[in-house]
Amino acid sequence: MTMPETVGFVGLGNMGGPMAGRLADAGYRVRGFDVSDAAAAAFERRGGTAAASAAAAADGASAVILMLPDSAVVESVVTDPAFLAALRTGASVLVDMSTSEPGRTRALAGLLSQQGTAFVDAPVSGGVVRAVSGELAVMVGGADADVARVENILGHLGKIYRAGPIGAGHAVKALNNLMSATHLLVTSEAILAGERFGLDPDVMLAIFNASSGRSGSTENKWPNYIRPETYDSGFGMRLMVKDMRIAVALAGELEQPSRLGAQAVALWAEAAAALPPGADHTEIARWLRDPGLSGEPDADQEGRA
Ligand code: NAD
Repeated sequence: MTMPETVGFVGLGNMGGPMAGRLADAGYRVRGFDVSDAAAAAFERRGGTAAASAAAAADGASAVILMLPDSAVVESVVTDPAFLAALRTGASVLVDMSTSEPGRTRALAGLLSQQGTAFVDAPVSGGVVRAVSGELAVMVGGADADVARVENILGHLGKIYRAGPIGAGHAVKALNNLMSATHLLVTSEAILAGERFGLDPDVMLAIFNASSGRSGSTENKWPNYIRPETYDSGFGMRLMVKDMRIAVALAGELEQPSRLGAQAVALWAEAAAALPPGADHTEIARWLRDPGLSGEPDADQEGRA
């Protein structure tokens, strides 16, 4: 019998937890690390093995996946000499599935290439629901030979879309979220205005979903998280603002500025500053209805990322 392939997984939060769990279900030996003891314990209950550090998770693994908040955290993990040494022991491919900044991803690829470590970016879309079901859109950037080494693993998490060279996945992911956040903002404004007119929100959603105003906001976010007032999509508002800023900055650097995006991110940032740090991104609708609010929708939501 051959030994199962070992995968290191760093960042076991709302997305990383279920993604790492799926890999354990698929038969990989998954060693996970998270600075949160609660996240690590949940991963052990899900069938994985908790490691004492990111370096311990990576030690001897054929692939190491990162699902961390942002580029700053990714860099702090990756540039740790113990982690870099652990990547060398397994000749691992490092895969950053976080929504990171494409320029910083390319810089990190340069550092990793000096020690011969292959690096792939593979951010995702689909939220916690599709992380659980393994139906994420996985946007992959990197060299063909490097991507080929992790395709089987990524295939357990969703459908792979080749975006281009290293950093291309992170670029398209940030642009996607700028679109998604701007849709959600204007959809929420429209529905709130329609309600003031006397329209029923469910009637509006049915009409929008059969019409040209349709989007992920009308098909998914409004009916599933905003109408029931649960605001529990599992994607934090602060993460959304981070993603929008990446896209707006990228557009500016490329001299193709996103003027609407810049205004949308200003509104989102205002909402994020008014709401608690753990607010869900779907709470943008709650905030638009009442920009003076500052609390959680209910006590159950506390501490959520
Ligand atoms: P999260 O905050 O739930 O999870 C991040 C995890 O990283 C946390 O458990 C945290 O404790 C851990 N962490 C932070 N610093 C660490 C470190 N130095 N070492 C080890 N672990 C560390 O966030 P999430 O929603 O899972 O998102 C992760 C990434 O995926 C983000 O870049 C986000 O933008 C992106 N994303 C999220 C969603 C979603 O719906 N939640 C969808 C697509 C992409």
